[in-house]
Amino acid sequence: MYNIPIMTNFKNAHKNIKKYIKKPHFQVFALSFSLCMIFFFIISKQSGSNIAPVAELDSEVAPIDNNIRNTLSNNIPQKINSFFGDMFSGLKEYSFEVKKGDSLASILSSLGICYSEILEVSKAIDPISSTSELKPDNDKLIVRVKPIDNQDSKIKAELKVLEIVKSPIYRVKAEKTTDGFRTMEEKSDITSELVRKEGDVPKGVGLIEAALAQGVPYNIIDKFYEIFSFDVDFERDIYPGDKFQIMYENLYSDDGDYIGNGDVVFASLYLNSRQQEFKLYRYENEKGIVAYYDETGKSASKTLKKSPINGARISSKYGKRKHPILGYSRAHQGIDFAAPSGTPIPAAGSGKVVFKGWKNGYGNYIKIKHNGTYSTAYAHMKGFKSGIKVGSQVNQGQIIGYVGSTGLSTGPHLHYEIIKDGKHVNPLTIKLPSIQNLSSQEIVKFNTNKDKINIQFAVLDKNFSQFASLIDINK
Ligand SMILES: [Zn+2]
Repeated sequence: MYNIPIMTNFKNAHKNIKKYIKKPHFQVFALSFSLCMIFFFIISKQSGSNIAPVAELDSEVAPIDNNIRNTLSNNIPQKINSFFGDMFSGLKEYSFEVKKGDSLASILSSLGICYSEILEVSKAIDPISSTSELKPDNDKLIVRVKPIDNQDSKIKAELKVLEIVKSPIYRVKAEKTTDGFRTMEEKSDITSELVRKEGDVPKGVGLIEAALAQGVPYNIIDKFYEIFSFDVDFERDIYPGDKFQIMYENLYSDDGDYIGNGDVVFASLYLNSRQQEFKLYRYENEKGIVAYYDETGKSASKTLKKSPINGARISSKYGKRKHPILGYSRAHQGIDFAAPSGTPIPAAGSGKVVFKGWKNGYGNYIKIKHNGTYSTAYAHMKGFKSGIKVGSQVNQGQIIGYVGSTGLSTGPHLHYEIIKDGKHVNPLTIKLPSIQNLSSQEIVKFNTNKDKINIQFAVLDKNFSQFASLIDINK
């Protein structure tokens, strides 16, 4: 991975929070929140219920604070009391976040619901979504009950509605009717919005900071790095004056709730030092595989990575140098990447392990044959990943071993070589072949798609977002 500017990230988050607090909708929320708190105190004082409310519920599903949870004894499902239901329908509503150890029975019985009712609702829901497979830290339950006022009984409530919220766009609901529970699924369609962001890399600031400053979410920056990683070495190629453009999706449910980021649809990077612009377009090929391609339809992903360990500093370049231990000049046939001892080493490309073991000055050494032309080698390793043997098939990015200082080495580093047709080549300057290239027939489709993306990018205001149907773009 590349270096993550954690401080900048925090600083940025802090700035965002400040900005948010100033927004009118936050102030309205803060006011209603305070009113809720006052209401909650009055109601909890008056109510004779033995179900102790944990917190007030402002929306349908409220997250339960882990600190509150931890102060309560183990495996007692935590509930959030809602008084809105009380006031309008005589029903009480509770919301639970499913935690490890919780079950539908444990949650519902904690509300004083009788066991036969729990069994009945489970039977009704099970054909749609197995109630024995609630996902901890994901699923949420919303329960509406009618309180039963009977001092002598353990049964304190009658179940009226149970909702299992699986995701912001999917929930299963059971409602009590005169003939038992009626179940239904509620699915919401996803609407996507395209967002365009762009900016320059100013002096003294990295690309991540520059993109964060333009409001590009962190996971989108991550994706941007990933798709360019075969062409650009982000540790060494980025300079002030470089420019970036990103168009990506924001996803919303039917109700307009923000779900998260979708894909990067288009990205460009202009490198000042090379006077070179890279453009990548998302395209779903005939096999249904989504990948990124340059303007000519060449795949962004290459057979090999230029530097296997993202973000590692180069401690020795390729070419003639004075050997640090032997003392005389000889060609350095690889690149040295300084990294702490034990740093995992991913395979630069997929292929077959053809050597694994001790190799003289190389120390612990692995060689991978990628195809008839290319091989890569990794030296001075501390150790090998268990399960890696001569003959093992490895995928690009799969961990093969760990950085060390075995053999003729002065400190922990990865010595990395690319061998082309039996000859060593400079990993940083060699042009590597693309994989997953498009057929000539598909290029026509790709070009149509690319033109649409270009138009979409052009019509979007800079650093503003606009609702647009991505389905149109891809067809
Ligand atoms: Zn070396």
